[in-house]
Amino acid sequence: MTGTVERERLWGGVTSAELGNAVAAVENYLAGAAGCFASLPDADLIAELHELEILRRRLAALDHLLLPELGRRNLAVDLGYGTIPRLLQAALRLSPRQAAARTRAADTVGPRTGLTGEALPPVLPAVGAAAAAGEISGEHVDALCRVLDEVPSDVPVDDFARVEQVLTEAARSLPPKGVADVGRRLIAYLDPDGRAPSEDDQRRHRGLSITERPDGSVEGLFRLTGSAGAKLIAVLDAQSAPRPAADGAADPRTYRQRMADALEDVCDLALRTGQIVAGGPSVQLIITMTAEQVKSGRGHAQTSRGQLLGVQDALLLAHESDVLDSIVNARGVVLDFGRQRRCASRSQTLALHSRDKGCSFPGCTKPTEWCQRHHVLAWVEGGRTDLENLTLVCSQHHREFRQRGWECVMREGLPWWIPPAHIDPARRPRQNQRIAQVPEG
Ligand SMILES: [Zn+2]
Repeated sequence: MTGTVERERLWGGVTSAELGNAVAAVENYLAGAAGCFASLPDADLIAELHELEILRRRLAALDHLLLPELGRRNLAVDLGYGTIPRLLQAALRLSPRQAAARTRAADTVGPRTGLTGEALPPVLPAVGAAAAAGEISGEHVDALCRVLDEVPSDVPVDDFARVEQVLTEAARSLPPKGVADVGRRLIAYLDPDGRAPSEDDQRRHRGLSITERPDGSVEGLFRLTGSAGAKLIAVLDAQSAPRPAADGAADPRTYRQRMADALEDVCDLALRTGQIVAGGPSVQLIITMTAEQVKSGRGHAQTSRGQLLGVQDALLLAHESDVLDSIVNARGVVLDFGRQRRCASRSQTLALHSRDKGCSFPGCTKPTEWCQRHHVLAWVEGGRTDLENLTLVCSQHHREFRQRGWECVMREGLPWWIPPAHIDPARRPRQNQRIAQVPEG
């Protein structure tokens, strides 16, 4: 078989003999399938369609056994991916959404391992059995996992098992959307008084995710507890009322657009108060532009989190906040900073940001917002609070660097870190990658 050698080289392992046999059988089928379709009678063509779909589903359901085995061996961590979805994204080029859905399905319908290594039954055994038999698709499994997760946690175990049975049966004859609808009706039936889900359930389901789109805009999904939601609605409602023009013309914005604008207003307000990060620098959004960009108004500025912003947008934002006007030389040493000196520590933080770009500890990527200012020569030992004696360090490294045997020194205006002898016997100073990079322009 031609594929075998190549697969071995790519994955660094060999697939099982069982899979090898299956691949050979599939290749045999594929070689003749296209030709045979044309000659099949109508009813047989439909039968072929059904049988193929069942086969596809049964193969997909193997993930419910394979992924838990990855988990049992802790392979995602050992290989450096941290989590199974990240391993799937990297190894199979899956989208984050698909990787998360497959992992969630395997976690819910596959075998589980307890804390002490003991085997536990699946959370949803009936769903798993139907998937393994090819009676329901991956989308059905996803819909069932989601809707069954909505069953209030105080429903007795036997009732929950019956709900799972009923919904799995429904999935054998309905599309995934239909299953979700039946599920919602069933949950409403279990809870005829429509009592609010418990605070525990609400907290279990809370979450917020934000994704950056290729065009630079940002989208997200959230689910909040009742109390958090009430606060959000109160704030956005007050801020999103239509604003007719001076001549009385109606506000052209849609409701959704007004809500989006209201959220931005609220964020602006929060940023202006400067009270968001307790104990950190008083600056929450830091944007770096070169002097050239400020002059021309063209190009892209960069936030301290690496997001690109049009220079025009960045200048508008800068109009509302302190302007970062540090000037850095080719090696990143700050030559001059802040014309605005009404708040020395604030300007210093901005200057430190343009030099250190965040935590200066080697290998750390924490952005400036999460950093504290560290006195290289301690303040009590006479160390001054100026740029030559300050560097940004995240709270973790601030807490741990001494304990781990590291030392910080300033050389020619830049922070360097000396590793302990057990890391480098010669104790050669190291720099954070962001500082070592020669800045553009
Ligand atoms: Zn750090």
